[in-house]
Amino acid sequence: MRTVKIVGPQERVDERDTPHPRMQRGELGQRLLRLRTSPSKDPFRRIVRSSNATDRRNCLTWVMGNTPDGAVNPERTEVPDPVAMAKRIKGVARFLGADVVGITYLDQAYVYSHRSGDSASRGEKDGDEVKLPHRYAICLGTAGDYNMYRANPSRISDAEYSVGSALTCVIGFNLAAYIREMGYPAMAHDSGHNDVNPIPLALMAGLGELGRNGLLINEKYGPGLHLFVVTTDLPLAVDHPVDVGVEDFCRSCEKCARLCPSHSIPFGDKKEVHNGVERWRINVDSCYKLRAFHADQWEVCQTCVVVCCYYKRDTWWHSLALWLVKGTPIPLRQLVVKPLLWVDDLIWGKEPHYRVRWLDYDSAYTPEEKPCKVPGCVAHSPSWKGKKARGRARQIAVQAKG
Ligand code: SF4
Ligand code: SF4
Repeated sequence: MRTVKIVGPQERVDERDTPHPRMQRGELGQRLLRLRTSPSKDPFRRIVRSSNATDRRNCLTWVMGNTPDGAVNPERTEVPDPVAMAKRIKGVARFLGADVVGITYLDQAYVYSHRSGDSASRGEKDGDEVKLPHRYAICLGTAGDYNMYRANPSRISDAEYSVGSALTCVIGFNLAAYIREMGYPAMAHDSGHNDVNPIPLALMAGLGELGRNGLLINEKYGPGLHLFVVTTDLPLAVDHPVDVGVEDFCRSCEKCARLCPSHSIPFGDKKEVHNGVERWRINVDSCYKLRAFHADQWEVCQTCVVVCCYYKRDTWWHSLALWLVKGTPIPLRQLVVKPLLWVDDLIWGKEPHYRVRWLDYDSAYTPEEKPCKVPGCVAHSPSWKGKKARGRARQIAVQAKG
């Protein structure tokens, strides 16, 4: 795959070294620790993030993650044709609510080496070695609500991100249960109990390519997918990685790097080899630390999702642009990409922000901040418009990096 070149040995990652456990231990600073462990100001956040709830039993994700897996039906359904079974499982996943589904072998490089957190109902403890002998990973994704995401950053995009992820867990939970009822072991890797890294598995399952922003970019939904993985031994035909032109687009685009408020996304060519993979690598620490500075207005930055040229409404002209990039021979793709980038800036703006009203939320700017100058658009709470605001954004970026 061109966006993910494996150039050296890959080691399994310890889940305790990933951002959420590090936040929980206070390693990303006291502000983030407080944000992580205090009840959120917003009830949507409180019903999906157990650490931000007043009572974690109000979080379905916590309930699912702490419920022991059901037994595997001893009466096994025979699988004479793994191709037909893969088709059926994809149909079931779509029926349950998934927008995209792909299947790959479960590469042990993408299984965490050690677990983070306790799960009393499963008899697991923080630091336990992870043993996951399943053969296949079913990767599924649901598309976030386009209009709600475009209210980013605000409580509206927070709700879409948090509740959308939680609802995707329900699909995965049901799919794993369906496979166990067919007589095969299956495990849903939800937020309460996750043994795998979903992005590399989704890349291998052909759901998209890796973008400059470190996210999976799907041809149709861009980086706006909530991902989920179910692992199993049910015999299935596997899918393969795809080339939809993301590599060539990201080389010239850099829109997410330009607009990232914490300056966490690299410009230029891929310079880094991380865990055996040549890639653009974002600064995860500064990305997460940004949250602590805006917690009164919003909690999750999705800027690198909503500004991405691949994140557009499903329209004929967007499909045409994708078709043009994908269909052009690789050495000639820059000839197509550069005019498309110019059109993207012209139509969507160099700094796209949109005002959205939903329920009693409004993503408009706060009174002390300046409105956006883009016609038809009013920029909202965060603050990289105007001299004073840009100064504040820079200050936040420096603090977040430090
Ligand atoms: S989520 Fe926001 S802060 Fe983090 S990398 Fe993306 S744009 Fe930057
Ligand atoms: S905004 Fe541009 S550079 Fe960033 S991930 Fe999307 S296409 Fe790639």
